[in-house]
Formats: sequence, structure tokens, C-alpha cells
Amino acid sequence: MMDVRRILASRIVDPVLWKIVKRYPVFDRLSEWRQRQWDTAAALEARQARALGALLGHALARVPYYAERVPGLTPEGAAAAPGDSLARFPVLEKRDLILHADSLTCEMDRGSYWNLTGGSTGEPVRFRQDVVYQTHALATTMLFYEWAGVPHGASHIKLWGAPRDLGSGRVARRRRLADWLFNRITLDAFDMSEQTMRRYAETIARSRPACLEGYADALYELAVRVERHGLPMSVPGAIVSSAGTLLPHMRERIESAFGTEVFDRYGTREVGNVAAECDRHEGLHVLGETTIVEVVDEDGRAVSEGEEGEILVTNLHNYTMPLIRYRIGDRAVRGADRCSCGRPYPLLERVVGRSESCVRRRDGGVVLSEFFIHVIGVEYNDGSIGRFQVVQEALDRITVVIVPSEGAGERALAREDEIRARIQQMVGDCEISFVLADHIDPTPTGKHMYVVNKMEERE
Ligand SMILES: [Zn+2]
Repeated sequence: MMDVRRILASRIVDPVLWKIVKRYPVFDRLSEWRQRQWDTAAALEARQARALGALLGHALARVPYYAERVPGLTPEGAAAAPGDSLARFPVLEKRDLILHADSLTCEMDRGSYWNLTGGSTGEPVRFRQDVVYQTHALATTMLFYEWAGVPHGASHIKLWGAPRDLGSGRVARRRRLADWLFNRITLDAFDMSEQTMRRYAETIARSRPACLEGYADALYELAVRVERHGLPMSVPGAIVSSAGTLLPHMRERIESAFGTEVFDRYGTREVGNVAAECDRHEGLHVLGETTIVEVVDEDGRAVSEGEEGEILVTNLHNYTMPLIRYRIGDRAVRGADRCSCGRPYPLLERVVGRSESCVRRRDGGVVLSEFFIHVIGVEYNDGSIGRFQVVQEALDRITVVIVPSEGAGERALAREDEIRARIQQMVGDCEISFVLADHIDPTPTGKHMYVVNKMEERE
């Protein structure tokens, strides 16, 4: 039965969706990269230089934002010396995406759509993506599964935030059908009560998936319960940690609880999956076919191997809204240029992202920061909520601090009651107060914290 589902997913459902319904050449990219990942570094560099030259040329010729900010550089000049030209582009900040969305956009016949993220600086950002970008992003994700040893279409459990009603209605039925067709089970990572976590553990042990994927903190919290209660567990394949910061103690705990290897991955909504581990675990390979990552110091200069710096991302394919030298808000330790596997893609030793607290439930369960990012930052945010922070004062007391976006003022609290009801639904019975503020202090390392747990500070 398992194999029939895998064959159905990989040979029929996926190809029909991407080749016939959507007509995205996802599989062409994938088979191209399967070959190219064993190219020499020189071949990769040549290919990258061509793609980067074309992107910079396009940005200077057709995207007003860049044309204004990189004076003296012509599209032809950028195409002739892409590496040096890239260094002349200013760092693109999240704020620029908010302030200059229009002049960063280029109208093209590429089937584009708006996307939204909470993002690690705590400010929701809207950005435009197109079908060419999406095709590359989908192929990247497929290649990263292969690096983790997960065959295409293999059984997959995803511990992920399900926006709403996973349990009932038409949306839920469609989701269940999609899960069946793609040989996948989705477990709601927003619902992590003690009882549901036990149920998740049972589902995983019973289905023995080829891949268990989730947010780093969701996998970790589940691993803690599996070990604490001695729950039977079996994941015959790999674990993919695909969002959030996977700290060394978390990796250790997850590997021991589930008895298999963890493959860390790094990506964000703005630029898709950027880097992933191969089976050597020497760091995360930046897939140079789609993305150029710079790790820089405060002055914008590249750091050396083993040093930490800010991540700047350049996506090579999203011409509709080119993100060039985009400061994503995460930091990384630059890794070696080569890995013992032989792939030419340079490594990030590790990503130093946010490390968040959870809100604790009375029953011993947790509510992850991703839930609040989704509900307050995206679902109930019409743009009037600039930043926010959820502070758990006690098991039954939560304060939500909201910084309105420019000019929004009290409007930022318009959906207070709905947000309160959603939080109570997840956290259980608790008192929730809302406070407006003009700023929220970052952590000593300059990060924004979505969740602060005052009970942990007292422990
Ligand atoms: Zn490798």
C-alpha cells in the first residue's frame, strides 16, 4: 500500500499538477540540477555570473528603485562584471520593501502574486513573486528532500501551522484529499496541547513515515514528550527541520527521541528555501542555482570562514520584484566553500536565527511563537499592526503589546476581540490584555522576540 501511494504521488499526482495543470517546468529544473550539483565550482561560478549579470541588468533597466540608487552603472556594465557590480548595489532593507513596494516592482507577463511574511524583525512585509520564481522554489524544495535521502512521493508527515479549521468544512476536506494524493499527513503545529502531542506521537509511530518535517521548536517539544513519557516511536527515514533555529541541544534531543538523522534547512517566505544540509552534515549548502548569499559584517564586508555576520540574499529569478542584497534579518556563521560530498555549493556553518520562547499551557502543552506570528501578524492584520510581542506573565495571564504601523494608532486594536478569542482557543482559559506601545525593545543581539515568557525567567 505504501509503495502504491508513493508511485501514485510521484508518477501521477505531482507530474499532472506541475506539467499539465500548472505548466511549470519544475521537473526540468530538478533534473537539470540533479546533474549540475556534481559540476565543478568553476562551472557553477560561470553559470552564476551569467544569471547574476542578467538579473542586475534587468533591475537597472526596468526597476525604478535600483535605477535611482545605483547611478553610473549601466545594464551592460553590470552584465559584463556581475560580481563587482553586485557590491555596488545598496543593501535592501525590510523597510524599503514597505516604503518602496511600487518602485521595486516591474510589470511583466509572468503570472505574479502578492505574498506576506511576519519576518524576523517583527514587521510584516508584503512582496511580489512570480511563476518563474515559484518554479525554481518548488524544484529547490524537491532537491533538498533528495539530499535528505527522501525519495520523491515518499510518505511524509508535516508538523505545520494549519491556518484554520483543519478539522471541518470544505477547506478541511480538500486538504485531506490533497494530503492523501500527495502521500502526506498534516499535523497542526498550532495545536500542541499535551493530549494532542501524544496523539501526534502515536500517528507518527503508526505510520512510520519516510520523512517527518516540522518547525524546529515543534519537533523539539514533541521529542521532549516522546522521551519524557517513553512513547513508542519510529521514523524510518529522515527528519527535516525546515523553519526556525535548530540549536545543537534541540538536534540532539530530536535525533535521540525519533532515532534518526535530522536535516536542517533554511529558508524564508521572501526568497523560498535557500540552504540545506546534505548527508555529510558539514553545514547548509546554499543552492547557487537560485540564490547568492553573502555573510557580511557591520560595514557590509564579507566575513571569513568560521565568522558570524548578517545574511544578505540575492534571488536570481524573481524579476517581478528583484530582491538584491536583501537583509533578511538572520545571522549565519560562514562555512567552508566546499563540502566532502563534492557539491560545488558553498556552506553556511549554521544559521543563527531567532530563538523564541513558547507560551505554556496549563496542561503542560505549549503554543509556539509561529502561532502568534500567523494570527496577530498575518491573519488579523490589515496592515495596522506594525510589531507585536506576546508576554506570558503567568499561566493564566498574557499581555499582547502592539506597536501600530505609521499613522494607524488605535486602529491597530480594531480586531482585539477576535485575536483574544483565537488565543484563548489555543492557550486555554486565560486573561489577555492588549497594550499599545511606540516601540518594543530588541534582545541584546538586536533580534525581535515575538514571545517573552516571564515564567521561564523566574525559573
Ligand atoms: Zn555536502
